[in-house]
Amino acid sequence: MLLKPSLPIASDAVFRLLSRPVFGRLGSSLPKRLWERIARRRPGRAEAAISTSLRAAKAAYSNEPPASFPTQLHTMHHEPSNQTFYALGSDQEKFEIFVDDFLGRAGEEVHLLPPSAAAAAAVREVDLVDEGFVDQARGWWKTGRMLIGDSEVMSFLFSRQTFNRSFESFLSTFCGFENELRECTNEDIVRHLTRDYDRKSIERLQQHQHQHRSSSEAIEDEIKRLLAWFRETFPYYHGFCPECTNQDGSPRRGRFIGATFANEAERRRNASITEIYLCDARKDTDTDTSGEESEADELGSSSDGCRRVYRFPRYRASAQILRSKQGRCGEYSRLFHRVLESLGFASRWVIDWDDHVWVEMLLLDKWVHIDPCEAALDAPLLYESWGKSPTYVFAFGRGGVEDVTERYTNATRETLLQRRRVSESTIHALVEDASRRVRAVYGTAGGEQETPVSVDARAEVPVTA
Ligand SMILES: [Zn+2]
Repeated sequence: MLLKPSLPIASDAVFRLLSRPVFGRLGSSLPKRLWERIARRRPGRAEAAISTSLRAAKAAYSNEPPASFPTQLHTMHHEPSNQTFYALGSDQEKFEIFVDDFLGRAGEEVHLLPPSAAAAAAVREVDLVDEGFVDQARGWWKTGRMLIGDSEVMSFLFSRQTFNRSFESFLSTFCGFENELRECTNEDIVRHLTRDYDRKSIERLQQHQHQHRSSSEAIEDEIKRLLAWFRETFPYYHGFCPECTNQDGSPRRGRFIGATFANEAERRRNASITEIYLCDARKDTDTDTSGEESEADELGSSSDGCRRVYRFPRYRASAQILRSKQGRCGEYSRLFHRVLESLGFASRWVIDWDDHVWVEMLLLDKWVHIDPCEAALDAPLLYESWGKSPTYVFAFGRGGVEDVTERYTNATRETLLQRRRVSESTIHALVEDASRRVRAVYGTAGGEQETPVSVDARAEVPVTA
């Protein structure tokens, strides 16, 4: 109510305030009409503020659904092919790039699109809390003709908006790891490491694990070397153009256009979401949200790129990640978890609800933090040093699920409980139930692991220098 009188002259200062995390929850509780007025006056700013409030709601992760999340829906109809396209949390320019690319790949006459009357564009506000709309949007998504320009809007559509739902989603992802063991066996991974990394080092790691030697320092040194190699071989993907490089030879970042449902070929290789980029490295001045996507918007050289539109399928299969060498913490934590297990170490997949994923390995009966994207070993307070406040961090392992938040924060138990918006009894019940389910899937009674691949089993593998 306090804000209302000032709205007609809504200044940048108001938007800046709304964009600050501390006001994010205030932002998300603003009535829909207010957002509509903001959106009409300053569409870019409103999107940024909405995105921030979504992020704040996610960080808070209560089990209460947020009040109201309006966002812009663009629709466009392509008369010659009689297809309708949709974009959520995007803008007209990105939407057109997406539609052009879609039709171009399908061999349609792209130039029949705007400004012809047949391809009239429409924009309206929709409410992301409206279950009816969300159902409809999920249907559109599955056609592959929908672009989602904001990762928070995406999270929302895919049911991660409450703590319980996001917990369930991570748990089922972890239980699904089992499904890839047929296509990418432990032997396959060890073969890959032996060939591309260092045969001797791999053997030493396996031997340490076999013989339970007491020198943890020696294992730690080997793991550190492996991590350094891993980070170099599997670099963090920033939407790099497959054709262009910067003047210094480094890969060139493209502009994030949005995400769409993976196409048939990508789905066959176990991706369900594909990100789309445009190589032009143009500065996008109307977006000031933080995050990977906008980072890709703002960085890069100032000259025009090759205008190529390219795709980044988010593969969920280790075999594919090994091949593509493209990923972020999601892909690489999953792959490194497999690497550790294939070498015979017990490993856990660790999720921070504040958008990060890493692993832990069992070293001399102690779970030790490992971040494959940072090549970090035993640096659990790394994330607090980035300014994060870990609130919910859970480790998913074959032996069960554990709340490991306290390991990753200096905050006292009391502070942590104040930060949390889900009761301890709810968390306890979820963890108990999840542990039972994980043990049922992996058939383990405790923290046992598979027998490691013996050194001999790989003897026939050709070793390239
Ligand atoms: Zn390029």
